[in-house]
Amino acid sequence: MYDVIIIGAGPAGLTAAIYARRASKSVLLIEAKSYGGQIINTPHIDNYPAEPGISGFDFATKVFEQAKALGAETVFEKAVRIEDGKIKKVVTNAAVHECRAVIIATGSENRKLGVEGEDALVGRGISYCATCDGAFFRGRTVAVVGGGNTALEDALYLSELAETVYLIHRRDGFRGDDATVKLLYSRENVKLVLNSRVTKLNAEKRLKSIEVTDNDGKVTELEVNGLFVAVGRIPENQNFASLIELDSAGYAKAGEDCKTKTPGVFVAGDNRTKEVRQLVTAASDGAAAATEAVKYLNSIA
Ligand code: NAP
Repeated sequence: MYDVIIIGAGPAGLTAAIYARRASKSVLLIEAKSYGGQIINTPHIDNYPAEPGISGFDFATKVFEQAKALGAETVFEKAVRIEDGKIKKVVTNAAVHECRAVIIATGSENRKLGVEGEDALVGRGISYCATCDGAFFRGRTVAVVGGGNTALEDALYLSELAETVYLIHRRDGFRGDDATVKLLYSRENVKLVLNSRVTKLNAEKRLKSIEVTDNDGKVTELEVNGLFVAVGRIPENQNFASLIELDSAGYAKAGEDCKTKTPGVFVAGDNRTKEVRQLVTAASDGAAAATEAVKYLNSIA
């Protein structure tokens, strides 16, 4: 029996663990993959106070070690549902864990392009993580799809490894930072393919080329060895939908206090409705959710 179970050991969940342990509450972190969440794929973090340039992996490791040293326990299991009650049960693929309060900090998963053959080519030319797989494409030709910060940063990162990088975006305006867009314009091996979508994947065992259709219907074939998909993320709330309210995009509706419609169930991080989804706001949510969870625990004690 734990005071708080935190589902997800990304920046929000780990920060919540630190705050809950500092309030002397027992904590179990349940993580389906590896600690750190999405941030472990970022090569350099330049927008988190105090440690400019730290890698996402080093950052996540430091926060994980901090939570562990404070006494947070961790299991690597996939939470599949929460059973509500005075004692809440978090059911995973491997066990049932009991607690009095739950913080859902599950973040989000990659959105797929939805082009035929995409799934079968993952690991054979298609990737959702430039920093994980970029090195396989040293000196080759790759394409990145998307117009947000992830796509821009992926294109920039890959331009240092690949011979040519196509950046394909469905509009001519980028959602990501102007500073990164300016840097991309300065890279001679980055070619922008705007107002266009990937409409076909051609492969023989591995990806060989892609067909791109522009907004006027003109189709162009680009020979590429790799395609990096960076078209946003989908919040991972579905397993808990009966206890929390979701908006039309699947984000958990909650204010800055991270409270949901179910007493003792909180949401923190990228899976919550909010304007700014950044490392610093994920950590901020973790602090707020844990503080509210501690208040809740003290109120039912
Ligand atoms: P995002 O900001 O939601 O951008 C997704 C991009 O993919 C958009 O440009 C969108 O086009 C495009 N898109 C969506 N569905 C598509 C489809 N089916 N086909 C083609 N294109 C599609 O996602 P993100 O880049 O992963 O970033 C997520 C959040 O993390 C953002 O808040 C971002 O600022 C943040 N982030 C921050 C950093 C950093 O601070 N260093 C780094 C990475 C990410 P439209 O623009 O036309 O909608």
